[in-house]
Amino acid sequence: MSEQVAPPMICLCCGKALEPAERGSTDPLTPPSGATVFFSHGNFGSTLWDPVDDYQHLEVFVCDECLAGRTERAWHVTAGARRPNNTYRTWDPKKG
Ligand SMILES: [Zn+2]
Repeated sequence: MSEQVAPPMICLCCGKALEPAERGSTDPLTPPSGATVFFSHGNFGSTLWDPVDDYQHLEVFVCDECLAGRTERAWHVTAGARRPNNTYRTWDPKKG
């Protein structure tokens, strides 16, 4: 089995280079330290990202400092079998 090199992890907002959460890891599945990874399989209606198959996605990294400064722009969504519909609230990291 060949070893994979992790792609560079760079904050979408500020461009800061991010380190892997596991120091020295080259595993591409290792998440960044001090940041969050967001995934998108596309969006019907986007003029930039709407692939026709399910075998690709975008990954976007946002460092904690940039995310903390923009929590009012993020939605915290609660979903699951016990709720008939998703519920949305402005994201507050203190509430989870
Ligand atoms: Zn940032």
